[in-house]
Amino acid sequence: MSQSIELWKNNLLGNYGVPPVAFSRGKGARVWDEEGKEYLDFASGIAVLSLGHAHPHWLKRVCTQAEKLSHCSNLFANENAPRVAERINRHMGGGKMFFCNSGAEANECLLKISRLWGRSRANGEEGKIFKVVVCENAFHGRLFGTMAATPQEKIQNGFRPLLPGITVAKLNDIESFRTAIDDETAAVLLEPVQGESGLTPTTPEFLRALRELCDKRKVLLMCDEIQCGIGRTGKLFGFEHAGIVPDCFSMAKGLGGGFPIGAVWMRDELAALFHAGSHGTTFGGNPMACAAALAVLETLDEENLISHVAEASGAWRERLAQLVKDFPEILVEVRGIGFMSGLKFREAPAPWIAKFREAGLLTVGAGNNVVRLLPPLNASVEELNESVEILRKALSA
Ligand SMILES: *Cc1c(COP(=O)(O)O)cnc(C)c1O
Repeated sequence: MSQSIELWKNNLLGNYGVPPVAFSRGKGARVWDEEGKEYLDFASGIAVLSLGHAHPHWLKRVCTQAEKLSHCSNLFANENAPRVAERINRHMGGGKMFFCNSGAEANECLLKISRLWGRSRANGEEGKIFKVVVCENAFHGRLFGTMAATPQEKIQNGFRPLLPGITVAKLNDIESFRTAIDDETAAVLLEPVQGESGLTPTTPEFLRALRELCDKRKVLLMCDEIQCGIGRTGKLFGFEHAGIVPDCFSMAKGLGGGFPIGAVWMRDELAALFHAGSHGTTFGGNPMACAAALAVLETLDEENLISHVAEASGAWRERLAQLVKDFPEILVEVRGIGFMSGLKFREAPAPWIAKFREAGLLTVGAGNNVVRLLPPLNASVEELNESVEILRKALSA
């Protein structure tokens, strides 16, 4: 066991178990552990490293920002936060942005938007319209509100009582949402592509019907784009595959390309429900985090990475499908979409994840026996092919 892991084990909370390796550096889609072993990094820090490791433009923005101004709080403005917000707002054709520090925190903001929306619908009365409908197997985070919105025993166990007012409906089943929404419902919250529970995309027909249903019932449609957003599915946001626009949505993971940041976009009518002092966080919109996010958004455009994901993922997923055909006794199907793809195994895949790692490929487990492959959005066709070859070799051994 490396010295870092020994120290980790002795000093950090055991909530992640004992990590198998400690990494010391990365470049592009490659990462090296403390012993100097090289890996193809298709874990990307769980869909975070949009540009891979140490992208020159990201480095330049983050390092020059560190020299100029690292933090100033929201008592004052900085040059990066409004530029990131302006880019997203321009893409959305209006609206306002709120910055925070993580995915769960961004979803907490969505939950707070739903409360303000419910109060305004109830003519200013609190506690009348407050329910939020979420999907079976959803993952929205581990803070108190988001944990309640994550209807999974392994997440909620030990922490009850939870935030009240969360109802559960079935993904891709509009009738189930029709039943779940009642006169006390303020909002629906869902992932356009479920990540943690095993890479399940919503169908465009379902999302469009849900948009219509929400409009009819005056219920907010809130999307969690934390994992599927920022180009990972071959569109900037996952909901774009259905051609719908949510009332508000959260971002995090891929937005900072390795720098912690969370964010929420909301349409102007919802932004108007907030006033000075009604929400906030000290680190939100931090100039360094926003320098990183700005570098990610600029590079997505500059290097045409979103069309790269859309184009390159087709052939890559065909190769993954060939693996499923060649190893039917181990694999069930290819799951997900774009660079948010994966393989479903017949049995719990933890031993395979370890074998792939030993063979030099980092992957991430997910629910439902799925192994996620989350390449950086600038992974080359050669790197994508290499991942399939490593998988093939490990599966054959
Ligand atoms: C990771 C994730 C979250 C939680 O984000 P944290 O930054 O870990 O708090 C919420 N929703 C989805 C869809 C995620 O993938």
